[in-house]
Amino acid sequence: MSKDQNTATVFFDRDGTLNHDTSYIKTPEELVLFPDTLTAIKLCNDAGIRVMVVSNQSGLARGYFSLTDVESIHQYLRDQLGEGGAWIDDFFVCPHHPDDACWCRKPNPGMIEQASARYPISLAKSYVVGDKYIDVELAAKAKLKGLLVKTGPSCEEALRMIQANHLPVACVAECLLDAVNWILHDVKGAEVA
Ligand SMILES: [Mg+2]
Ligand SMILES: [Zn+2]
Repeated sequence: MSKDQNTATVFFDRDGTLNHDTSYIKTPEELVLFPDTLTAIKLCNDAGIRVMVVSNQSGLARGYFSLTDVESIHQYLRDQLGEGGAWIDDFFVCPHHPDDACWCRKPNPGMIEQASARYPISLAKSYVVGDKYIDVELAAKAKLKGLLVKTGPSCEEALRMIQANHLPVACVAECLLDAVNWILHDVKGAEVA
């Protein structure tokens, strides 16, 4: 299936969403995928959905690790998924410090704009999946559907803030696979409509 504007796109957060968030992951060894990550990504691949990763990595600005380290971590992630026939179409990383007030650090929509400049993305057919409040906030700012997965360390805080700020959230999912199944169902519904 060729990917064009009719292709749905899912922007996945990385830490706490695809893998355990052990805080400032510096090496491939520290990146441990959740048990359902491969299956979830492969379901998207098989459905012809574009798969992106959008990740805040302020550890770069803090000097905890280098861009080369991030690239080797992402290569390791690609290799892990590739063993099961799954893949990520592209990665977008914000390397800045929160104090830099950049446009790419989530919840700002810069990384989604970068992706939209590189691919024919229809925002109306796009989703953000993440474990933090900022991921759902990003979805709201960029006018995509936002899904919260309860697999990160600050899940309770995210739920509390979503409620307090009346932030629209399309789905709160126990795990990544539940979130992806919700998306597959939603994409199918949109095709029928
Ligand atoms: Mg996260
Ligand atoms: Zn940035």
